[in-house]
Amino acid sequence: MIVEGKMQYLFDEKGRRYLDAFAGIVTVSVGHCHPAVNEAVNKQNALLQHTTTIYLNNQIAEYAKELTDRMPGNLKVVYFVNSGSEANDMAIMLARLYTGNWDMLCLRNAYHGMSIGTMGTCGQHTWKQPMPQGFGYHHALNPDPYRGPYGDDGERYAADVADLISGATPGRVAGFIAETIQGVGGTVPLATGYLPAVYKMVREAGGVCIADEVQTGFGRTGGHYWGFQRQGVIPDIVTMAKGIGNGLPLAAVVTTPEIAASMASRLHFNTYGGNPVCSAAGRAVLRVVDKEHRQAHCAAVGEHLLRRLRGLQAKHDIIGDVRGAGLMLGLELVKNRATKEPAKAETAAVMESMKDMGVLMGKGGLHGNVFRIKPPMCFSHEDADFLVDVMDASLCKL
Ligand code: PMP
Repeated sequence: MIVEGKMQYLFDEKGRRYLDAFAGIVTVSVGHCHPAVNEAVNKQNALLQHTTTIYLNNQIAEYAKELTDRMPGNLKVVYFVNSGSEANDMAIMLARLYTGNWDMLCLRNAYHGMSIGTMGTCGQHTWKQPMPQGFGYHHALNPDPYRGPYGDDGERYAADVADLISGATPGRVAGFIAETIQGVGGTVPLATGYLPAVYKMVREAGGVCIADEVQTGFGRTGGHYWGFQRQGVIPDIVTMAKGIGNGLPLAAVVTTPEIAASMASRLHFNTYGGNPVCSAAGRAVLRVVDKEHRQAHCAAVGEHLLRRLRGLQAKHDIIGDVRGAGLMLGLELVKNRATKEPAKAETAAVMESMKDMGVLMGKGGLHGNVFRIKPPMCFSHEDADFLVDVMDASLCKL
């Protein structure tokens, strides 16, 4: 039971401290109860909490400007909603309205939400209820450099998208949605060159390209502010959630004025989306990321952690793969490096043992054998060393 949080630390009901390497699945971006976010939220809370967005309020307008100032290209229109699922639902609706096409392309091993619409985009049986989940979703071969058949050759995987367009759709599509590093799927960075090839095919088939930045955004991957920049593409629609509000329920869809216009012929309404308190939190997150140089920090600490985890891989045969960027890392446990048989029970045992020693980790991937390391962005070099030492001790115990 967690009752208190302070930056990268969590405390249980007995006052025991844990180092948080999961951040509520990247939901706490800049740190639990970060003082600057708290201050902004408390100030707005005392002034005005909400009325619905039928009245103007400066927070939402200024926030929209500050957020789009950080976007490339013509991504200048924002819709605020309350969760990643809602954001992706809206992105898919925009894609369909704008293009007049219905079919959506997504990836096997993907996760984009639990609403009835986004469940259809998910590419893991564990996240699909046995019922109709939206129609017209087609799942392409996952460009997974570790487990996929073509290694890190993104263009070869992209050929499957061409196949899907010609073999499973009317030849015209509404769009394509993907994360650049799959989060829930087990920290899987898409193979090099995949997105440029796929974006081209999708646009040629009349579709738009959606980047899900729910986990990869706001500098977490270190090298770039947005995950899609890793592959040198500019999407037509970008969705954000989780870390955008440092734990408050806030999410966003950013798109171009042309695409946004396709929704303008009907009413659009969302009771809580962009409420002043959550907007104040979102603005504070942007300020903290800039002021405290969180992107560069993620790059430096992430590189150190990656190096140390690779050292651990050299020592323990059970570590099949170490991957990721910045403070979005993954470590895959396998029973045998040649067959890559997932070491599922061992992953659960190590996670439990690390918790007992005071480090909270995430696990995921289709087989539940991938550690997901995504701490609050204030995670330090010393924290990284502590995590690796605790993991080493836990692996030795196995
Ligand atoms: N997209 C991604 C990449 C996610 O990781 C998640 C949540 N795990 C979602 C969308 C859905 O977000 P929410 O749970 O806020 O609906």
